[in-house]
Amino acid sequence: MSVLVLFLDGVGLGEPDPAINPFARAATPTLRHLLGGPLVAQEAVSRPGVLLRSADATLGVAGLPQSATGQTSLLTGCNAPAIAGRHVSAYPTAAMRELLSAHSIFARARQHGLRVALANAYSPEYFSAVALRRLRVAAVTHAAQAAGVRLRSIDDLRAGRAVFHDLVNHRLRGWGHDVQALTPRLAGHRLGEISEDADLTFFEFFLTDLAAHGRTALSPEAVIGMTDELLAGLLDRLGARTTLLVTSDHGNLEDCRTSAHTRHPVPVLAVGPQRGAFRDVCTIADVAPAILSALNGDRAAAAARSGGVPA
Ligand SMILES: [Zn+2]
Repeated sequence: MSVLVLFLDGVGLGEPDPAINPFARAATPTLRHLLGGPLVAQEAVSRPGVLLRSADATLGVAGLPQSATGQTSLLTGCNAPAIAGRHVSAYPTAAMRELLSAHSIFARARQHGLRVALANAYSPEYFSAVALRRLRVAAVTHAAQAAGVRLRSIDDLRAGRAVFHDLVNHRLRGWGHDVQALTPRLAGHRLGEISEDADLTFFEFFLTDLAAHGRTALSPEAVIGMTDELLAGLLDRLGARTTLLVTSDHGNLEDCRTSAHTRHPVPVLAVGPQRGAFRDVCTIADVAPAILSALNGDRAAAAARSGGVPA
């Protein structure tokens, strides 16, 4: 069994009111087909082949959920904001980096002998910004590096073996890289194909959070439309043994009344044979053990229960 995780930064389940929630007014034919309606707050959905749960992202800690603690919780199954005493934005602290190194789903999957792929393409500009300390390493990248998961490059992208974070390569082409322009649907095809050679494939998409903060020229509706097309492409190529999981670290894009994060729950949308592994997910800290369970059946779940993944 394999799992393909589409991680969407800053996507909560908000009110069904189109005046408030761009997910209620944007064109999302793929999501509507899967769910029978838009991706908004609702009772758990269980349709043929599809499961939608709401996951609490506050983890019992006051204030607005943030990316570093949210992603650390999602990747490790630990309650990172409770450990840190607060929600931490952007980049993980040293203590959170230790948690990610020891307990991430990437590390755990590799300990089980599984093949792990982080499908994002990293640009030379990214590596030089990190080397010059103009940019710090975020949770997903840190977890992958600590687990010995290779960071994919522009060469991988040219070979169809990676996807850039904007899906369509607009940014890279603007920087002068000789790469093909893609549609979000084609990017979805690539991700689906990459997942055929791995047990656990992860892709991080953060234009959702940037659009909600107003930090990209793309409107929330445009980014939601891209996400929906990406999903369509993924579903075109999803193998019979692969379960797709779409989830997030905190709310933001689902409420246009604020450009800050929200305390809304986030979606845990699972499509495919192992979707039942996500049936009991209640918070974002429940997602990592559920992924391990989906990947490896009873063996990994038993290891997680026996203390491998701290609660
Ligand atoms: Zn944000």
